Amino acid sequence: MKRSLSSLFAVALALTVVGCSDTKTAAKDASVGDAKASTADEKPAAVAGTKTVSLANGAKVTWIQDNEGEKLMPRDLFSDASDSLYASLNMPAGIPASVSTFLVQVDGTYILFDAGLGAFGGQLMSRLAALGVNPDSIGLVYLTHFHMDHIAGLVAKDSAGADVKVFRNAAVYAGQVEYDAWMNDIPKNDMQKNVMALYKDSLHLFAFGDSLPHGVLAMDAVGHTPGHTAFQLANLLIVGDLMHGYALQKDHPEINSNYDMDKAKSAESRKRLMQYARENKLLMAGMHLPPPGFAE
Ligand SMILES: [Zn+2]
Repeated sequence: MKRSLSSLFAVALALTVVGCSDTKTAAKDASVGDAKASTADEKPAAVAGTKTVSLANGAKVTWIQDNEGEKLMPRDLFSDASDSLYASLNMPAGIPASVSTFLVQVDGTYILFDAGLGAFGGQLMSRLAALGVNPDSIGLVYLTHFHMDHIAGLVAKDSAGADVKVFRNAAVYAGQVEYDAWMNDIPKNDMQKNVMALYKDSLHLFAFGDSLPHGVLAMDAVGHTPGHTAFQLANLLIVGDLMHGYALQKDHPEINSNYDMDKAKSAESRKRLMQYARENKLLMAGMHLPPPGFAE
């Protein structure tokens, strides 16, 4: 079920996103990459920071690392973990992680799950270019939640400094609960309001349990944020921010990260969805899993 927005938003367009010249350069490169890919249509060389896997339904999913370099989640992000448990991991510098997005190619359509950091150091645009994917060819964007490292990549600046859509032709799908929480209840929401206002004409709000285009099922993964969503597509389960420290949480789903807004619900969602993935032999894809972003 889709629910369209019933009202426009009176929003001060003072976007906090700054310095988007990288994004613009990358967008130009995207068409160059496209041309290259179409002339050399044999196996493309492996693109750094990406990994492509085939799904049971013939769709392809590509992990795209959005952060630059190595990402470690620090010990103090996991207050739930005892010192002895943490020490047993033997990861004194932090737990290997990433900021990631996932690109699915299904039924001739490109679907992007989350849009990454954007002007805050995001590598998505240059990696799409290297993959030969023009941002204008992204047909849908599904959002797991509205934290900056998942939605900032939806916005860039034009040459006059105005906010513009990065994915001009994409329908954007977001959870109704997540949307309502950020628009009404959560403070420091300027960026969230601006992004949603920019995409208001292509925004579709869903409920948990809804079947969405291309066979995507929206699932309750609430806790990290009020409307945090997981998505199932064939044997793929996009788990968003269910886990921030995989090495720790894979065996201890009761342990939250301090980013999780409702810890009780977050732990319940983590246990439930990890068990669901195991029982149904799903491939998990997580936005902060360590490279290459997938977990069995
Ligand atoms: Zn995140």
